[in-house]
Amino acid sequence: MGKVLIIGAGGVGTVVANKVAQNSEIFTDIMLASRTKSKCDAIAEDVKNRTGITIKTAKVDADSVPELVKLFNEYKPELVINVALPYQDLTIMDACLECGVHYLDTANYEPKDEAKFEYKWQWAYQDKFREAGLTAILGCGFDPGVTSIFTAYAAKHYFDEIHYLDIVDCNAGDHGKAFATNFNPEINIREVTQKGKYWENGKWVETEPHEIHKPLNYPNIGPKESYVIYHEELESLVKNFPTIKRARFWMTFGQEYLTHLRVIQNIGMARIDEVEYNGQKIVPIQFLKAVLPDPGDLGENYTGETSIGCRIRGIKDGKERTYYVYNNCSHQAAYEETGAQGVSYTTGVPATIGAMMFLKGLWRKPGVFNVEEFNPDPFMEQLNKQGLPWHELFDVDLEV
Ligand code: NDP
Repeated sequence: MGKVLIIGAGGVGTVVANKVAQNSEIFTDIMLASRTKSKCDAIAEDVKNRTGITIKTAKVDADSVPELVKLFNEYKPELVINVALPYQDLTIMDACLECGVHYLDTANYEPKDEAKFEYKWQWAYQDKFREAGLTAILGCGFDPGVTSIFTAYAAKHYFDEIHYLDIVDCNAGDHGKAFATNFNPEINIREVTQKGKYWENGKWVETEPHEIHKPLNYPNIGPKESYVIYHEELESLVKNFPTIKRARFWMTFGQEYLTHLRVIQNIGMARIDEVEYNGQKIVPIQFLKAVLPDPGDLGENYTGETSIGCRIRGIKDGKERTYYVYNNCSHQAAYEETGAQGVSYTTGVPATIGAMMFLKGLWRKPGVFNVEEFNPDPFMEQLNKQGLPWHELFDVDLEV
């Protein structure tokens, strides 16, 4: 049915490579390209052993539009699945426009020198993609991604108006390390150390980092201290669902993790500006990434589950109702299936399903779109089939 190019050979790229190969009737030709070709080759070999499917590999520096254009012109993919880093979003979108290739990603653009993620840079490509007749699907991981689709599904089937949205993200896994991040450490630490922010009554309310917190109960896990942080899907969801009065994002953190994070910040290792060291310029957070555990190596001994969902309050037929939709994912099951842990799995599976929606013609329209702007129903159906089954609770105490 379609020819896809995956860019990025980290934890998420590993899962996408496995899942597209498992769905080879849809993904008929697959290439995996990244900065380090040996990583692509190792993933391709593993996928071949697991599924019998051959994946082509290539080296590409996705910061370079000319390198991307050369690769796109040689391989001629229909769709690029961008699971490199958020820094590469715009160069990859530029190359897609130049070569007539459709685009999908899981995280919005961030400039390297400013820890600030916003959709404005990618939304600015709307006219260019529309005029070129190309589709760009933004934020198709779990959060953003599935959480946005959960919201769209709730709005379509259960609510006339959504008033309160609380996205709750719990990782109750244990990887046995004193400190490690579950995805790229640089991106992760930039995300969780910034100020908190949520939407209330038509405007953004800023908080100190981790200022608002309380224990929330997660299915099959129990109570976990949860912290309000800013997360990128809030920006598009309050725009696409304007009845929302308040939208917040909660994430669980262990005390040990927060203590390490505080120390990392206090000693300057979270800095994203250059410092002089032994006559060389280094960026502390990039150096830190080099010495921290590789998130891709956490899988083997990772136990426990993630639980991510949406807790929603609103109105249906004039009556107030509550709705909680969530998925729990086992780190071990994810590792056994793909060789990657649960956080990579919960990102890579939705990216694959989004690509499937595009190739099947179900999510295809010229322009730049966040996932909640497409029909959620066929996506929700695939979540159940591709390893991320979801559950619904009605009229329960949402605790938020
Ligand atoms: P990793 O750091 O494990 O992998 C990133 C990959 O991108 C690496 O293979 C890296 O290459 C490659 N890469 C980096 N820079 C370039 C470049 N200039 N050119 C080509 N390749 C490059 O990250 P993850 O797999 O954990 O995450 C991937 C993406 O998924 C990130 O954007 C992250 O923000 C997003 N994500 C989204 C989530 C969601 O739910 N929406 C949740 C988790 C992650 P090399 O191996 O050489 O370093």
